[in-house]
Amino acid sequence: MIILDGKKTSNDIKEEIAVQVQSIVSSSGRVPHLSAILVGNDGASETYIAAKVKACQKVGFKSTLIRLDESVSEEELLNEVEKINKNSDIDGLIVQLPLPKHIDEMKVTEAIDPKKDVDGFHPSNIGRMALNIPAFLPATPSGILELLERYSVETSGKHCVVIGRSHIVGSPMSILMARNNNPGNCTVTLTHSRTSNLKEITKTADILIVALGKAEFITSDMIKEGVCIIDVGITRVKSNKTKSGWKLLGDVNFEDVKDKCSFITPVPGGVGPMTIAMLLQNTLLSSKKEFSS
Ligand code: NAD
Repeated sequence: MIILDGKKTSNDIKEEIAVQVQSIVSSSGRVPHLSAILVGNDGASETYIAAKVKACQKVGFKSTLIRLDESVSEEELLNEVEKINKNSDIDGLIVQLPLPKHIDEMKVTEAIDPKKDVDGFHPSNIGRMALNIPAFLPATPSGILELLERYSVETSGKHCVVIGRSHIVGSPMSILMARNNNPGNCTVTLTHSRTSNLKEITKTADILIVALGKAEFITSDMIKEGVCIIDVGITRVKSNKTKSGWKLLGDVNFEDVKDKCSFITPVPGGVGPMTIAMLLQNTLLSSKKEFSS
């Protein structure tokens, strides 16, 4: 069994990006710039945003964090988005989700200029992804492709089963694994909460991508020998073995399945760190203006 080490791979990617940033800065004097909007002070969102800002610093990007009060109106938020859209100094914009209930997330997502949509959530980028033309790919699925590629996991002709159909992970993942690309060219089955015979399906997977958000849901009786497992899930549970008093669990029971797998991502240190690395990569791509979405 080979561990798909997202922590190491994401550090490799960050080093590669830092080298490219240096060359962009010395040739053009311009520094790639990511802007993030954070509404309210949800603990998990604060943690994710802090990690993204830190990652920007590590690779030499400029970053701007705009904090808005929980009570901000949808209109005020849309105005902020528009200001950033028009600011030619800024290459990428992310609006940290979830947003407060009184704000329509889709409306905000659609307001972001697709050319600055480094999260890859805008319908224009999702459509371009589905058409297999240059697009900002959503960071988590893109990070998974990168891991598969860097570890030379064969995907062509394989049966890939995806669990979960969210807009940010499961659905785009199923599209990407079916595209005529490498990684890709899989026969894909997308499963979800209404799938009636999940275990029968997961047992036929050569590649199993799990993104449902239920701790240790996948056990050894649900997989076949030699499967490659990508565990996207992150659930915070109490623990008396850690200093912080909590630990992170994936959607896969790692200890139970590990001896049956050819490859597996750990939690933490698998898919999570890759997500941030791909956000940086999208911002770099945007700063180079290599394609227009
Ligand atoms: P979501 O909560 O939006 O959707 C969950 C999906 O799982 C739904 O499509 C639902 O139909 C499906 N599902 C629920 N119960 C099921 C069952 N019993 N059988 C089959 N399918 C079932 O999920 P999300 O936003 O994609 O997040 C999923 C998990 O991935 C969460 O734990 C989240 O924290 C984590 N996540 C991690 C990263 C990362 O960078 N590692 C990024 C995004 C999400």
